[in-house]
Amino acid sequence: MEKAFKKLAVILMASISFYLSGCSQQTPADLIISGGRFYTMNPAEPRVEAVAVRGDRIVYAGTAEGANKFRAAETTLLDLKGKTVLPGLIDAHAHLLSLGRFLVELNLVGTTSPQQIRDMVLKKAAETPQGGWISGRGWDQNDWEIKKFPTWRDLDGTESHPVYLRRIDGHAAWVNQTALKLCGIDRNTPDPKGGKIIRDQDGEPTGVFIDDAADLIALKMPLPPPDEQIRRLKSAIQKCHSVGLVGVHDAAIDSAKLEIFEELHRRGELTLRVNAMLYDSSQTQSWLKSWFERGTLETDDHYFKIRSVKLFADGALGSRGAALLEPYSDDPSNRGLLLKSTDELYQLTKSALEAGFQVCTHALGDLGVRTVLDAYERALKGASPGDYRLRIEHCEVISPADQPRFAALGVIPSMQPTHATSDMPWIEDRLGPERVKGVCVWRELLDSGCRIPCGSDFPVESPDPLWGIYAAVTRQDHEGRPEGGWYPRQKMTVEEAVRGFTIDAAYAEFAEDLKGSIEVGKLADFTILDRDIFEIPAREILDTQVRYTIVGGNIVYQSPDLE
Ligand SMILES: [Zn+2]
Repeated sequence: MEKAFKKLAVILMASISFYLSGCSQQTPADLIISGGRFYTMNPAEPRVEAVAVRGDRIVYAGTAEGANKFRAAETTLLDLKGKTVLPGLIDAHAHLLSLGRFLVELNLVGTTSPQQIRDMVLKKAAETPQGGWISGRGWDQNDWEIKKFPTWRDLDGTESHPVYLRRIDGHAAWVNQTALKLCGIDRNTPDPKGGKIIRDQDGEPTGVFIDDAADLIALKMPLPPPDEQIRRLKSAIQKCHSVGLVGVHDAAIDSAKLEIFEELHRRGELTLRVNAMLYDSSQTQSWLKSWFERGTLETDDHYFKIRSVKLFADGALGSRGAALLEPYSDDPSNRGLLLKSTDELYQLTKSALEAGFQVCTHALGDLGVRTVLDAYERALKGASPGDYRLRIEHCEVISPADQPRFAALGVIPSMQPTHATSDMPWIEDRLGPERVKGVCVWRELLDSGCRIPCGSDFPVESPDPLWGIYAAVTRQDHEGRPEGGWYPRQKMTVEEAVRGFTIDAAYAEFAEDLKGSIEVGKLADFTILDRDIFEIPAREILDTQVRYTIVGGNIVYQSPDLE
């Protein structure tokens, strides 16, 4: 009896030590990533040495030795040799199909005069069949010697083709005479709701259209065929992966765009995780209503999701369409355009919340922001207690009185760090020395308890999230100006900026349990950089290269110059 007991004890001991020595039969991992500097954005375990991935999930995050237990003959090993691993970066506010279009149309970013743009149009016209539309995007009169809106006369000589050129922020369009004629626009055309036709002193349209007035032209332009749209979407996605993005909040899509996304997903080629907001406009009302009846949607593979609506409260500051409490300092007759009243915003928010949808409202000016906060406050008061995460997109100028209301109401300020550094050269002209202190007040918002999901609003800005992190941390342009940073008190730390592009972006789409940090059970999405942005001087963040972008355990981008 005693002998039998001893024998059993020996067997037991042996099996325990067999287990402890790591020879237990773990189901092998498909991929083990090790040898890197991992920043998990998980406060419970901020740094790990390695991760193991099975299917599209992280099954282990911890020591290199621990990860090794998931190793089998079929496991792919990725030894990073000191590279830096972040949770996959997410852009919390962007426009994928616009980026796709931007990649094929005339790129006017950085142009220095209307004459230069006219030359580019003429060159494009020479290779475009007569009568075909020429479109472009990216002009900014603030970059020109004469900082005034251009007119159709600046495009003289291009009459063989209709020309449609959007401003950098997409909130104004400049067209030539042919486009005006083709669309039947003249002095008798009234300003549409939510838009403005710029006119000369005689009341004649000058060729520049603000906000919804641009639709008078845009809706007349033929849409590219679906295959071309899919090709553009794919090139936009590839561009995103090349800068380290694993996901995007698309702000926003209509039914035609939705079909493009759905088709790409059906083909199994949607490799970027897209959280698409439904576009609210006069044309999309019945479509929105049908979505509210049907409810939210998320594909099983978590690549495509619809659970929010995008509303617009005002325009943009660059084109003086953002709604301000007091007139523009450089245009005392103008306070911008409020596109919806508190009551309209309240009604829309209420019906969205009742249908289970999140609301994300574009508001840039302090009046726009206040109007949205008022509407949200009312909607939240009337709603049953819950976790609604209402968002304001951009909130570039916030009156000091409204700054604490975000945290108090649980409203998410969804912001784009590069907007601050792109707009800083001219924004004080628009707002004056006092109001400008309310621009991009990241420090006030963070310290009051807000999370700030970060984005780029591409193609308004570059899709590169490292540029966003650099702007957030330095509040300087790429030449390091101004010294010390622009209103430097508002800077973010590297940690806060990375949170903005990872876990806080995930939070803003109700997905913090699924992505945004490196933790067991979460999606295996990683962005791998050639250097440690937490350790290097901030200037070098701009020189940092993406080495790998991994989505759901698949390498979707690998830098061509991997050593
Ligand atoms: Zn946008």
